[in-house]
Amino acid sequence: MAEAAPEPCDLLLRGAAVVSWEGATPEGADAVAVGDGRVLAVGRADDLARRFAPRATTTLDGGLLAPAFVDAHTHPVFAAERAEEFDLKCRGASYLEVAAAGGGILASVRAVRAAGEDELAARVVRNLRRMQRHGTLTCEAKSGYGLSVADELKSLRALARAADEVGVTVLPTFLGAHAVPEEFRDDPDRYVDVLCEEALPAVVEEGLARAADVFVEEGAFSVAQARRYLERARELGLALRVHADQFHALGGVELAVELGAESVDHLEALTDAGLEALALSRRTFAGLLPVVPHFCAMGRDAPARRLIQAGVPWFVATDFNPGSSYTPSPPEAAHFARRRLGLSAEEALRGVTEHAAASLGLADRGRIAPGAVADLVHLDLPGVASFGYALGENPVRALWRAGRPVPVQP
Ligand SMILES: [Zn+2]
Repeated sequence: MAEAAPEPCDLLLRGAAVVSWEGATPEGADAVAVGDGRVLAVGRADDLARRFAPRATTTLDGGLLAPAFVDAHTHPVFAAERAEEFDLKCRGASYLEVAAAGGGILASVRAVRAAGEDELAARVVRNLRRMQRHGTLTCEAKSGYGLSVADELKSLRALARAADEVGVTVLPTFLGAHAVPEEFRDDPDRYVDVLCEEALPAVVEEGLARAADVFVEEGAFSVAQARRYLERARELGLALRVHADQFHALGGVELAVELGAESVDHLEALTDAGLEALALSRRTFAGLLPVVPHFCAMGRDAPARRLIQAGVPWFVATDFNPGSSYTPSPPEAAHFARRRLGLSAEEALRGVTEHAAASLGLADRGRIAPGAVADLVHLDLPGVASFGYALGENPVRALWRAGRPVPVQP
């Protein structure tokens, strides 16, 4: 019987073990065919070479070919580092003590307010490039260091410009409720009014965010304030993501579940009741941010294994920010997910690809399957077991965004 004529395709990548997350992927798959920016097929190189007539072929020298990372919780819109504050923390000051001393989030707010939009966009470009060279081609990115209507809009505009310039897919989240700004310290409810009546409508009007987020914590926002803000955001058509149970369980988890939030992140102080609410929901993702307890020298971690056993959907993210998790690297977050949360290497890799994409409603990335966007990363690792093992080395060797090579800067 005559063989069918080979199908044209744009690119055949071969020579690396493919981590696809698809049960249908043949054993020993070491090649991916790409056309029109999408994955056409995954399989053994010899089979795909017969099936396709590629316009270009790239042969890799071993390692893993995985879905490019999806970082589902980041804060890259900052204008200055907070190295002095890290020094204070290393000498024993707690997160809440640093914040009370005028450091923390409000220090980043002063720097963002002082920066013009061009200067801020240039900083965000640098931050997104740092994320990109560690393998991230899609991220959820939050504002939240402006904390005035004008400075939050400036932050989200700078983010959109930087995303275009760098070539990273950014899903922007409005985090106007990150902290209570100094000028509203004596009347935080009035700040929530400003968020609900002015900021959220302005953000939606300009199409600058797809989601809204709030930090439910002592010294930040109460459950009642968060409810008002999140209900307003939902009414305006935004998806919801929530920071809760980082230091204190105030009921933010239960609120997130009740309002159908996409995710509730941190969870180091999660209670049995919060875990039960998440387990009953099975819709709101648990966002695991395992670098933060390391960075803040916290003794407590999110109960990842209990969440997984209870059937709660989950992801792993860097929480890249200058205060409590200063790393743009998903492989490094995976290290802490393994070491501190007890995740396996495979779970950690799924956490920063497939699960992270699912938490953002992205069905066509985070895995390598026919029809998925061909966002791919070549990792210099001998096998999945090595993912998140080494610290301080970037395993990323090459990246393709929608099937086109992305130059990876050292
Ligand atoms: Zn965060």
